[in-house]
Amino acid sequence: MAHGSSSPLDFGIGALFWQIPEAVIVADGATGQIVLWNPAAEAMFGYTSEEMVGRDVEVIIPPQHRAAHHHGMHRFHETGHGPLIDARKPVELPALRRDGTQLTVELSLSPTTGPDGVAYAMAVVRDVTARKASERALQQQAQLLDLAHDAIIVRELHSRKVTYWNRGAERLFGFTRAEVLGRDLVDLLRPLAPVDAIQPTLEQDGAWSGELALRHRDGDTRHVQARMTVQTGAESPEPVVLELLIDVGDRKHAAQELQRAYRELMELDRYKDEFLSVISHELRTPLNFIMGFSSLLQDEVVGPLNPQQLDYMGKILNGADRMLMLVNDLLDFAKLQAGKFDMDCHPTPYAPLVMDVVATMEPLAEDKDIRLRTEVDVPMLPYLDGPRVIQVLTNLLSNAIKFTPAHGEVHITARVEGQELVTEVTDTGLGIEEQDLPKVFEKFKQLDMTATRQAGGTGLGLSISKALVEAHGGQIGVTSVPGQGSTFWYRLPLVQGDS
Ligand code: ADP
Repeated sequence: MAHGSSSPLDFGIGALFWQIPEAVIVADGATGQIVLWNPAAEAMFGYTSEEMVGRDVEVIIPPQHRAAHHHGMHRFHETGHGPLIDARKPVELPALRRDGTQLTVELSLSPTTGPDGVAYAMAVVRDVTARKASERALQQQAQLLDLAHDAIIVRELHSRKVTYWNRGAERLFGFTRAEVLGRDLVDLLRPLAPVDAIQPTLEQDGAWSGELALRHRDGDTRHVQARMTVQTGAESPEPVVLELLIDVGDRKHAAQELQRAYRELMELDRYKDEFLSVISHELRTPLNFIMGFSSLLQDEVVGPLNPQQLDYMGKILNGADRMLMLVNDLLDFAKLQAGKFDMDCHPTPYAPLVMDVVATMEPLAEDKDIRLRTEVDVPMLPYLDGPRVIQVLTNLLSNAIKFTPAHGEVHITARVEGQELVTEVTDTGLGIEEQDLPKVFEKFKQLDMTATRQAGGTGLGLSISKALVEAHGGQIGVTSVPGQGSTFWYRLPLVQGDS
């Protein structure tokens, strides 16, 4: 039978198909030759009806799918139906346009018998390329959303039915996606927070954010930071709410822990200050007894001592002196820490102050044959707290002597520079490595433990000096060349008391 050359109009209801907006293709069931190709098909594939009628439908099937098509045709021919032949169930297939580009079509195929008694296959073809692409994009987006750590949920605005539920939501609430899709989100998670306020706000403002307490599948509560936005897309007639829920349970817990640790630390710090202050007070009293009575003995007030006894007395007093210094350091430090020290500033003759300190240090320097040189050029009365500045200078000078080997030299200079009183203590001692320079003013910091241990000290002297200088509104610092010596300096502002 030859029926491949039928024109559309020959085909009973061909005229009808000619006009409908969907692409309709009719092919001979036995040969696969096209007998009808309507204008919508022309538009979709780029082939005209004249070109296509009489040709094999294979033309629009990508080569890799042709074998399957043959097979389908064969079955259709044999049985009148094949795997594709079910008009109620459209299938998606790849197809080729005239220009070689590929598209995805949805095909509803139905067997038809023409007036000539021939079996035809009639296909209604819909171009679903764009829909497929957006489905693929959506799928990719969903996969990405699953990677998110936080819960992402989409639900319909009014019915509150869940339409999307990511892995994060599964983790956070314990419900699987399959369990929740289509269910009412509020029923599911039973929010404890102002739920009643959320719906109207969403409807009015299109967004809501705040903290919510939500129910986990096992009945526990989960605290989340929620951000919700209403989306009205062309895709869905019903507006949906996109919810981002961030678990803040952990964060809250961590913040509480931190606060607790901080409180404990503050408490400990307070104990330490109290402890230091008590200890130093309590140590000073018996120390004063020791020193007072030892001095009386040494001065032979209660009777003469033999030379050996005198020598021992001297050693006891030396030790007690050092101990007093350490205790005073601790006490000063405790006071500084507690913020309990008052400044008492007066216009003070500076040269005598320096000379006094140098005089008290002279014996220490003599012991090591260290020469002390002093140059003071301060022709005014700086306004300062004398005893505090004496303490600073004593500390710098005693360090300089302590850390300078025998036969060295320590040079003290004081001068006015602009609006500042500058005092420098330069030694020819060990010096300090560059990386250690910033550390020396830290509390309890001693650099070379062996050298310092030999010299004694608490490592508090410089941190106390720093606090005292800063209390005057001044600065303290050091420059040093390791192996050659150091210069410790402080600058005090000459604000008041100039003469
Ligand atoms: P300490 O009571 O141990 O002397 P300081 O705070 O006065 O404590 O000094 C801290 C550390 O700085 C010292 O232990 C020492 O390592 C270093 N240092 C201080 N002065 C000098 C100096 N003139 N030369 C070298 N190192 C010094």
